[in-house]
Amino acid sequence: MHPERNPGHAPQQYPDRIVIKVGTSSLITDGCLDPVKADALAASVAELTHAGVRPVLVASGAIAQGRFLLGNDGAADEDWRLAAAVGQAPLFEAFRAGLARRGLTAAQFLFTPLDLCDREHRQGLRSALEHALDHGVVPVVNENDAVRVRNNDVLSALLAVVLRARLLALLTDVPGLYASDPRTDPAARLVPEVKGMSAEVERLAGASAGGPGTGGMVSKLGAVWIATLAGVTAVIADAHAPRVLRRLLAGEPVGTVVHPRGTVREHGLEPLWRAFATPPCGTLHCHPSTRSDIAAGRAIPLARLVSAQGGFADGDVVDVTAVGDPHPIARGRVPLGAASLSAARTTRDGAHVLLHPSKYVSLLEVC
Ligand code: GLU
Repeated sequence: MHPERNPGHAPQQYPDRIVIKVGTSSLITDGCLDPVKADALAASVAELTHAGVRPVLVASGAIAQGRFLLGNDGAADEDWRLAAAVGQAPLFEAFRAGLARRGLTAAQFLFTPLDLCDREHRQGLRSALEHALDHGVVPVVNENDAVRVRNNDVLSALLAVVLRARLLALLTDVPGLYASDPRTDPAARLVPEVKGMSAEVERLAGASAGGPGTGGMVSKLGAVWIATLAGVTAVIADAHAPRVLRRLLAGEPVGTVVHPRGTVREHGLEPLWRAFATPPCGTLHCHPSTRSDIAAGRAIPLARLVSAQGGFADGDVVDVTAVGDPHPIARGRVPLGAASLSAARTTRDGAHVLLHPSKYVSLLEVC
């Protein structure tokens, strides 16, 4: 199907493409891949495919399954990488078999966010994925954790942008985003709709992060930022809600839907990834003239810094605000941590850059 034009200059989208991400906790029972849960997911994906939708499934669980098979709960990087390498094939096989039972062929794709940010790798991957979709083959994606263990929420958001999907469905073990912590507040209210991501919405996730099974909400919102700033609608919903995918596609209210309000293009994917892969560790309160640096996409010079808050290290994510206004106007990765920054300020080295243009994303239009 041809891509559709979106109002407001957002990138064109393919209305039949959706990226569905399902987390480990929704596929595992007692530490091991649950064949019933995997088969139920394969059945939903098959149903969509037979109805003319072109779903791309991003499924986690390789590490958990690998650890189960190895009987290894080591916490070193090598243990995680080995577990992923052991668990990857059985995880894929569960979906391959479930889709095959329903007359469909699955194709396994393993990659990392860096592959989506690199132009040549991205083009290769996209054409392979599109070729699969054109042939009615269902792509089953996982992060290549033997290379780099990160998170599939963010990977699936980047993928939804690259494929110009109309929807990113983040399926998890909670019904969506709550306005307060459902564990301590029995009256906690599910937020059905968010007009656009903002720092306030992130604070909601912080409030509900201690709730049962909501530990991953912060990482989900990183993915939601990425998708929606690049024009893709994102939904957070309960993986086990009845007919969740069909209802979502029918436009029924399910979980929390976050509407897009950004127009970042794929050449801006790397700063988007770097800014939202992890939550901010601090805030740089800057002179109001920083707004014009950001609007022009220029480097923000150190001289703009009024004060810094938080114990961030070199390369960490920080928010930028203009003094007098609490809303972030940019988010990005600082070359200098809090300690190096204050040292650089005392030497009044005007050559220092607070944030490089390739390392931050403007929030001027959304926050
Ligand atoms: N890719 C990892 C796995 O399959 C999980 C990463 C995540 O949970 O986001 O085990």
